[in-house]
Amino acid sequence: MKESSREKVASLIPVVTEFEKPFWDSLQDEKLMVQKCQKCGNVQFPPSPVCTHCLSNDVKWIPCSGKATLWSKVTFHKFYLEPYNDVPYSVVMAKLEEGPVVTGRISEEAASKTPFDAPLSAAYVKTADGTVVVEFVPA
Ligand SMILES: [Zn+2]
Repeated sequence: MKESSREKVASLIPVVTEFEKPFWDSLQDEKLMVQKCQKCGNVQFPPSPVCTHCLSNDVKWIPCSGKATLWSKVTFHKFYLEPYNDVPYSVVMAKLEEGPVVTGRISEEAASKTPFDAPLSAAYVKTADGTVVVEFVPA
């Protein structure tokens, strides 16, 4: 797992509810999890207590392959939140192989060289406060 000097990232994470806890716990184990509806098969992220397609409350957590494609990207040249003061930095919206779109960091070099729809892989970064976040790298 890569280490990051960013600090106080945990302070930016919203209060983790019982519905989001499996996602954050899985990152600690370097796994990416999303929810799958057991009634209609809808795969969703962010987590919800019910299926966002059919409203069934029979949703289970499934592990993701970590494979994704670059759906959107942006590079920040001004920082807005102290833990993210290492500008410039880039963020992608990665469309997971399982369907949902997840946001994560990407290196500036990779962001500038990676075209839309290019394959990405999930990687895991431990920040200075111990929080593990997902980052994407070209596959
Ligand atoms: Zn459903």
